Amino acid sequence: MAGPGWVPPRLDGFILTERLGSGTYATVYKAYAKKDTREVVAIKCVAKKSLNKASVENLLTEIEILKGIRHPHIVQLKDFQWDSDNIYLIMEFCAGGDLSRFIHTRRILPEKVARVFMQHALQFLHERSISHLDLKPQNILLSSLEKPHLKLADFGFAQHMSPWDEKHVLRGSPLYMAPEMVCQRQYDARVDLWSVGVILYEALFGQPPFASRSFTELEEKIRSNRVIELPLRPPLSRDCRDLLQRLLERDPSRRISFQDFFAHPWVDLEHMPSGESLARATALVVQAVKKDQDGDAAAALSLYCQALDFFVPALHYEVDAQRKEAIKAKVGQYVSRAEELKVIVSSSNQALLRQGTSARDLLREMARDKPRLLAALEVASAATAKEEEAGGEQDALGLYQHGLGELLVLLAAEPPGRRRELLHTEVQNLMARAEYLKEQVKMRESRWAAETLDKEGLSESVRSSCTLQ
Ligand code: ADP
Ligand code: MG
Repeated sequence: MAGPGWVPPRLDGFILTERLGSGTYATVYKAYAKKDTREVVAIKCVAKKSLNKASVENLLTEIEILKGIRHPHIVQLKDFQWDSDNIYLIMEFCAGGDLSRFIHTRRILPEKVARVFMQHALQFLHERSISHLDLKPQNILLSSLEKPHLKLADFGFAQHMSPWDEKHVLRGSPLYMAPEMVCQRQYDARVDLWSVGVILYEALFGQPPFASRSFTELEEKIRSNRVIELPLRPPLSRDCRDLLQRLLERDPSRRISFQDFFAHPWVDLEHMPSGESLARATALVVQAVKKDQDGDAAAALSLYCQALDFFVPALHYEVDAQRKEAIKAKVGQYVSRAEELKVIVSSSNQALLRQGTSARDLLREMARDKPRLLAALEVASAATAKEEEAGGEQDALGLYQHGLGELLVLLAAEPPGRRRELLHTEVQNLMARAEYLKEQVKMRESRWAAETLDKEGLSESVRSSCTLQ
C-alpha cells in the first residue's frame, strides 16, 4: 500500500525497513537495532494527533507500565520514544503475521485449531481480568515459526482511544465492535466478549457475521435486533454453537458473563495447552496403570481416556520435534492398551446390558396402567437398541439422557413398594449406561484428536500458512 515516495520515519538507534501493516491509529514497521545485537523488532508509529489530547499524558504513563509486563500471549513492549509528531512503540517482532491473514489464507479453521487460538488469546484476560476493547483478528499476532503462539497486540491502548473522534466519526472496524459500542456509545468490558464471538465466527465460517457489501447494509445489520444466525455448514459441535450464540448476544446484559465464558465446556480452559499438560497426563497414566494392575478394567480405561485429554494439548504445546515424537509414541501405546481394556469392559458390559433388559421387562409388566412410565421405558429400550448399532453411541446417549429425565420425575412421585424398587434400579442402570457411553464417545474424540493432530496441529497449520504467503 505504501506509495512510491514512501519513506519510513527515522528513529534513534534503529533502522526501519519494510512496513508490516497499519491499523486504525498507527503504522508498524519492521526494524533492527543498530547496536551490536542487531535485534529485529517491530516499531509502531502512533501519530499524536490521533489521540485524545488528555490521553497523551495518560498513554505515556500506561506505556511505562506496559513496558514491565511480560506475558507469553501479549506482544511485548520493549521500549518507547517520542518526538513532536509521533509516539514510537518498540515491540517484539511477530514473524507469523496477524490472525486475519492466517484465517484467510486457509479460508476457515477447524474447530480444534480455533479453540487453541482462543485459549491462547484469552489467557491473559482470564488471569488478569483486564479488558482490551479492540479485539479483532488484525490485533492478534502469531509469534515466530519455531514457537507458534498467539499474541495480543494493541493491548492497553484502546482505553485511551475512543472509537468516536471529536467530529463524531467512528474509528476502527464496526465489524468487530459490539453493537452497544456503535449505537449507544456507552459500553464496558463486555464488548470484548462480543468481539471474541465475532473472531470465533470468522475463524469458523470464513467471514464475520456482519460481513456486508455496503456501509448501509452493514449499518442496518448492526442496528437491527435480529438474532445472529449461525450458518449450518460447516457442521460444528453443539457446545461450539452454544458458545457462539451466547457471545453474539446483542444485549450486553443478556450476553454470556466472563465467569460463564471461562467455565464454558467449549473453552475448556482446564485442557488448555500449557507447560503443565504433560505432567497432568502422565500423572493420570500412572493411576491408570495402577488400576490396570489391580484388575479394575473400567477404572483404568476411564483414567487412560482422561490422560489422553491432556496428552493432546501437551502435543500442541510441545515445539521440539523430537520430544513431540516421543510423546506421540507413548500416546500410541496407551491408546492400544485402552483399546484392549475396552474389549474387556465391553464384554462385561454386554452381560450388564442383558440383565438390565430383563429387569426392564419386569418393570414394564408392572407399569401397564402408567402410560408415561411405559413411554419412558420405550425410550430406554430404544436407547439400548441404538447402543448395539455400530456408531450409535451418541444417539443412544441422547436417548438415555432423555429417558432418565422422565424416569427421575416419575421416581420422585412413585410410592414405596416393589415397583419403586425396580424403578430405582432402572434409573441406576440407565445412569451407568449413560456414563459408560459418555466415556466411549470421549475416548473416540480423544483418539481422533490425537490422530488428526498431525494434520491440524497448531504448529503445523502455522507452518503451512507461512509457506503459503
Ligand atoms: P493499530 O493500533 O493501528 O491497529 P496494530 O498494532 O494493530 O496497529 O498493527 C497494525 C498491523 O501491523 C497489525 O494488524 C499487524 O499486521 C502488523 N503488526 C503490528 N504489530 C506487529 C508486530 N509486533 N510484529 C509483526 N507485525 C505487527
Ligand atoms: Mg490494530
